[in-house]
Amino acid sequence: MSARILVVDDVPANVKLLEARLSAEYFDVMTASNGTEALALASRAECDIILLDVMMPDMDGFEVCRRLKTDPATHHIPVVMVTALDSPADRNRGLEAGADDFLTKPVSDVVLIARVRSLTRLKMMTDELRMRAITSLEIGMQAPERSAVADTGRGGRILLVDDRQSSYERLATILAAEHTIDVEPNPTEALFHAAEGNYDLLIVSLDLNNFDGLRLCSQARSLERTRHVPILAIADPENSTRLLRGLEIGVNDYLLRPIDKTELLARARTQIRRRRYTDHLRDNVQNSIEMAITDALTGLHNRRYMESHLATLAEQASTRGKPLALMILDIDYFKSINDNYGHDAGDDVLREFAVRVRKSIRGIDLACRYGGEEFVIVMPETDLHVAGMVAERLRRSIAGEPFAVHKGTKRIEVTISIGLTTLEQKGEAVADVLKRADTALYRAKHDGRNRVVSHAA
Ligand code: GH3
Ligand code: MG
Ligand code: MG
Repeated sequence: MSARILVVDDVPANVKLLEARLSAEYFDVMTASNGTEALALASRAECDIILLDVMMPDMDGFEVCRRLKTDPATHHIPVVMVTALDSPADRNRGLEAGADDFLTKPVSDVVLIARVRSLTRLKMMTDELRMRAITSLEIGMQAPERSAVADTGRGGRILLVDDRQSSYERLATILAAEHTIDVEPNPTEALFHAAEGNYDLLIVSLDLNNFDGLRLCSQARSLERTRHVPILAIADPENSTRLLRGLEIGVNDYLLRPIDKTELLARARTQIRRRRYTDHLRDNVQNSIEMAITDALTGLHNRRYMESHLATLAEQASTRGKPLALMILDIDYFKSINDNYGHDAGDDVLREFAVRVRKSIRGIDLACRYGGEEFVIVMPETDLHVAGMVAERLRRSIAGEPFAVHKGTKRIEVTISIGLTTLEQKGEAVADVLKRADTALYRAKHDGRNRVVSHAA
């Protein structure tokens, strides 16, 4: 995991120091001595994490951070502010500017490396998702970056796991100003509660009575339903070494007691914002996968999906010694529907056709749009005789009820022709099966249309 870190500081000695420590851990280090330079480097997407000095002439670190976080090209890069100022007010200014974390000068080696490692992991995961989501951006879906930049991080659902009443009452009151908050004082119930609740953030106390809060964090990381929920750990200062351990096992951020109200709110917002962004990316990936295998007009599978899946179905049928039926359906004189009623009416017919097909087949059957007005249905564990009955039922469901077009103002008669066959010998090529069905379809057309023709091999 060789991440590239951008170190920004106007004092050359500070840059050298951080560079040496990070290089010793095999991080790849780039440097900039002012904000303008840093923004230019970052916008060329050449770094994974930015360590940003606060006090710089011209543009200070807060301003650099604010610009990074409001630019869709750079907003996903984690920013750690490195500062000699350590008042809550300064920290809050940074968090408001969108900083992901703080390191106080002089920077402790252990804390520096732990933070950079944990943010690197996060960045790699986000990059992976971003890369996959690019495809959906290219086909015109809304950019997740746009909504992420606008997200305030408020209105989240938070689960607080803390067994000290005075502590959880105070924290819950603070958080309730911006979020919906549930408290779970019983750590043994917490994981179950977290998995059920669809939370945007878990806040876990590491000072629980007779219970290891880190174990809970690690369980939450391994459970499918909580894997992506960010965790903010809270600990007494004497437990701070356990926080480092926490960062290693996937805790996203932490706070030391006594907890500053503004800082708690700011850190919760940061985590919630990030959670929504990655969720959004993940949804986009999911959508683009669906788009890649679905025909947009009819919602049936597309040809590409059918061709790859058909090979699998044929192989399964062969090895299990089960029959497999395949039919090609073609709408009769479809061109004249377009010519007489318009292309939109043609589209209406295709959509309604798909609805009727779906009603006539079983869940395990695979229906796809093979071409313009040509469809293929694959039926596992179905012999030629049964497939013939299904095909006939389908034919009647089309011919028996006129199709509504032009928003229901007009109804037109539609018929289809069907060519039907089955997979014959073990290992028969899928292309041969399709060809046989196509030959049968050709005969159905030739013999007068609106009919089913079977072709046994
Ligand atoms: P046949 O009975 O021999 O199948 O005649 P046909 O008119 O149905 O066949 P042909 O292949 O000549 O014409 C198919 C037409 O389908 C031509 C094409 O413009 C139209 N078509 C293909 N895709 C679409 C679509 O998505 N929407 C609409 N409205 N028409 C489409
Ligand atoms: Mg046709
Ligand atoms: Mg055709």
